[in-house]
Amino acid sequence: MTHFPPVPSYYAASANPAPQRPSLRGSCEADVCVVGAGYTGLSTALFLAEAGFRVVVLEAATVAWGASGRNGGQIVNSFSRDLDTIERQTTADHLKLLAGMAFEGGQIIRERVRHYDINCDLKDGGIFAALNPRQQKHLESQQALWRRFGHDQMELLDRDGIRTRVGTDRYVGGAIDHSGGHIHPLNLALGEAAALESLGGVIHEHSEVTEIRHGQPAIVQTANGEVSARFVVLAGNAYLGGLVPELGAKSMPCGSQIIATEPLDEALARSLLPHDDCVEDCNYLLDYFRLSGDRRLIYGGGVVYGARDPANIERLIRPNMLKTFPELAHVKVDYGWTGNFLLTLSRLPQMGRLHDNVFYSQGCSGHGVTFTHVAGKALALAIQGQADRFDAFASLPHYPFPGGRVFRVPFTAIGAWYYAMRDRFGV
Ligand SMILES: Cc1cc2nc3c(=O)[nH]c(=O)nc-3n(C[C@H](O)[C@H](O)[C@H](O)COP(=O)(O)OP(=O)(O)OC[C@H]3O[C@@H](n4cnc5c(N)ncnc54)[C@H](O)[C@@H]3O)c2cc1C
Repeated sequence: MTHFPPVPSYYAASANPAPQRPSLRGSCEADVCVVGAGYTGLSTALFLAEAGFRVVVLEAATVAWGASGRNGGQIVNSFSRDLDTIERQTTADHLKLLAGMAFEGGQIIRERVRHYDINCDLKDGGIFAALNPRQQKHLESQQALWRRFGHDQMELLDRDGIRTRVGTDRYVGGAIDHSGGHIHPLNLALGEAAALESLGGVIHEHSEVTEIRHGQPAIVQTANGEVSARFVVLAGNAYLGGLVPELGAKSMPCGSQIIATEPLDEALARSLLPHDDCVEDCNYLLDYFRLSGDRRLIYGGGVVYGARDPANIERLIRPNMLKTFPELAHVKVDYGWTGNFLLTLSRLPQMGRLHDNVFYSQGCSGHGVTFTHVAGKALALAIQGQADRFDAFASLPHYPFPGGRVFRVPFTAIGAWYYAMRDRFGV
């Protein structure tokens, strides 16, 4: 039996009230059984419940115990590899669909927040910060690329421009995506879970799926019960473990770490982020930060390949925060936590079918807040017989990690070190 320790995060400490959901006991039937109650699972389940399907979600721990309840909360458009990479990997028709979806995730989130009245500190404005001229050039191409695909919300910022939005001298320039933004990630997920339940969907917590017996219906097994379902959606992402070895072979869990300071006084908070935007820099191993609803600085970064928990998260992340905002030297850090996202070799997400009626989506490689919402729509529509969106994602190639389970970690770390060195020297 896997152990699911509580997450010592600021988000857990400031979560909206939520019910404890009973674990699955005995047998039940559903149209669709979803494995995992992160954004992928919840988003899919909610779209399906809205369309009248009977949905049962099985969650090994509690709602959004995985990355969805621990992340930086940044609503970032497009995918971890951008549309120019995708253009080289798929057909013109699929590209057109994928490009449309690249900017839809934030709209889905905003629509849900509005429709279901979800209290999750939603704010507009996402900044990409350039640490050197090469990164600024990259942002210029990204703006042109996004415009080519109809997204005109990105505005370039020169050195003075970014200084008015981020109170540090570290950046040579940047860009703001006016349709980006940020949220309290756990409260978004809890709101989506409540919305699902309001439509008759059922969530069982502490219900780890141990086996799936394929067939029509498929049988989804937990320690004390089973769900018999016409369709199954696997949404376990970096926490799926060994349940489906073929999904594990083509992806790698990686840890990212976040700290949250004590609440800052208003003037100090405003001097750091006068417009309350969220920020990510353009390094390969990037820093990301924003203010919480109660004016803490939430600062993330660092990647641990293979997803081991680092011993002291504050020791790891605080120096990065002070490089950006030296004036925070006297400020106390109240929380530090880690979470796992799922890296793929191409950094493109993986969506597909294991069997006719068993679907999966995984591996958004660190930019999943928006993608998982788009994925939920694509999976839900595929189950309803409209598979165009799903087929477009499924057309993207999936590669196994070189080195297998033993060597994939050092191989990937060497690759990341190479890119980190390029960032350091601005080449
Ligand atoms: C520290 C951190 C910061 C991040 N910051 C950002 C950000 O700012 N912006 C952004 O876009 N993305 C960010 N990401 C990525 C983003 O959080 C993820 O891509 C996204 O949340 C993945 O959602 P998911 O539902 O696919 O997976 P998860 O949220 O990990 O959910 C998977 C769930 O499945 C459950 N599960 C697994 N196996 C089983 C099983 N056998 N039976 C039952 N349940 C099971 C797990 O317990 C878990 O709750 C970050 C990730 C991390 C870790």
